[in-house]
Amino acid sequence: MADRDAPSLPTPGLQRSWWLREALAAEGDPVPAPPLSGEIEADVAIIGGGYTGMWAAYFLTERAPNAQIVLLEQDICGGGPSGRNGGFVHGWWENVPELARQYGDEAALAIAREADEVVDGIGAWCTRHGVDAWYRKAGYLRVNAFPAQDHDWDATVSRLKGLGAGDELVAANAAEVQRVCASPTFRDGLWMPSAASVHPARLARGLRRVLLERGVRIHEETRVRSLTVGDGRVNLVTDGGRASADQAVLAINAWASGWPGFRSRVLAWASYMVITEPIPDRLAGLGWTGGELLSDSRFTISYFRTTTDGRIAFGGGVGAAGYDGRIGQTFTHDRRAIARVVANFRNLLPMLDGVRLEDAWGGPIDITGHRFPEIGSTHNGRLHFAHGFAGNGAGPSRLAGRILATFVDGGEPALSALPFVGRRQPLLPPEPIRFIGARMVREALIREDDALDAGRRPSWLLRLIARLPRLFGYRLGH
Ligand SMILES: Cc1cc2nc3c(=O)[nH]c(=O)nc-3n(C[C@H](O)[C@H](O)[C@H](O)COP(=O)(O)OP(=O)(O)OC[C@H]3O[C@@H](n4cnc5c(N)ncnc54)[C@H](O)[C@@H]3O)c2cc1C
Repeated sequence: MADRDAPSLPTPGLQRSWWLREALAAEGDPVPAPPLSGEIEADVAIIGGGYTGMWAAYFLTERAPNAQIVLLEQDICGGGPSGRNGGFVHGWWENVPELARQYGDEAALAIAREADEVVDGIGAWCTRHGVDAWYRKAGYLRVNAFPAQDHDWDATVSRLKGLGAGDELVAANAAEVQRVCASPTFRDGLWMPSAASVHPARLARGLRRVLLERGVRIHEETRVRSLTVGDGRVNLVTDGGRASADQAVLAINAWASGWPGFRSRVLAWASYMVITEPIPDRLAGLGWTGGELLSDSRFTISYFRTTTDGRIAFGGGVGAAGYDGRIGQTFTHDRRAIARVVANFRNLLPMLDGVRLEDAWGGPIDITGHRFPEIGSTHNGRLHFAHGFAGNGAGPSRLAGRILATFVDGGEPALSALPFVGRRQPLLPPEPIRFIGARMVREALIREDDALDAGRRPSWLLRLIARLPRLFGYRLGH
């Protein structure tokens, strides 16, 4: 499959993602946010202009309208994964069994309900601020695409039913799945009605606009090189200047894997996407006109959705892990990862053979040992952080932003009392063991999934490697 496509595969890493180019073109002539030069003082300094940093800034402007907030972004706001993700917005209903195991049933439900706010919250926010982020609440369907994948979510569905939240995740039979999207490879599925899709970059750029309108001082192309806390201040050094603030928020996602104090808790992994030419007639032929989000149920997940101009954006968590916190070309230029994404696209939607792929891009996702975010504070409450969304932060970053704002401002104890808040994630092995292990496990996971899809039994060695992280207490791998 991959070989047949190879000559025509779009090359990742040559330009910004299709999403961000589209959003910047629609934006026209945005208010500039020049690099920081000289010295500034603020009440709060936010590092990172993705969703997490921008939601934190936004909720702070709501809670403390007079606070002086400065946001420093090494690229442009939305230049990271927030401007190039799949745009799947959902909460944590699928995590409830694991959350219940860790914190108990009631706490798990409380967390999931709080996380669910993000879906309607983002829609309402877009309406309130006139941000046309192509928001559509049309639900999310996970499909079993091959016999080996059948019914791997039965336990989750019955657990949620038992907790009285059976409406949040509903089993869908084959006929119901076909009504959403008629692919011959799809079997039964799992329906999450509360999910929505967005144009990721339009959302990110919309946040930027609203923050500037609210007086947040944004400096783009401003990389924070060092952070120290002393004399009751947080001091930041950038290439061209210095910022000092009472408190700071570190919202750097996968870059936390290279940040002192966090590098042993976060692993960066690559996710890649392609986008087709507009094919509205072909989508109509599949009956896939409702804007539903889709994914398969492999561990190395393929996720796909339509756009308002009739394209399919298709992604997969098939990229490699980074080394020692370096976010380099592994995350943006990996042609092999794109070949894998395209092979999955052709396998899952074989009737779209021949459809042209117009663009390809990748980015880092941030994985912790339990595949759940770390949101907390350090340095006597002067530095707050949130990362570890495991490739699912488009929605939850809004919850993280709300929590970070309450850390800074001290209000809403119920939110910061959610039991996962302040909990550190397990330490990961040191380099180079982490890098070698992550690459071996990822290769084993992909090959195991491929073998199962082809109706073959994976070798014992593959199965052992894919399960190694679990044997060491991490919730990674099978
Ligand atoms: C290809 C792909 C597809 C994805 N699809 C989905 C999806 O469909 N649904 C979903 O829920 N999630 C998805 N994700 C994950 C989602 O994009 C992230 O979870 C989310 O964007 C996290 O937001 P953030 O603000 O924490 O991180 P980011 O968007 O990464 O923002 C962090 C920012 O910090 C900046 N930064 C880093 N270091 C510094 C520094 N030293 N100084 C200044 N700035 C710095 C970076 O440039 C970056 O802009 C996907 C990710 C990728 C890569």
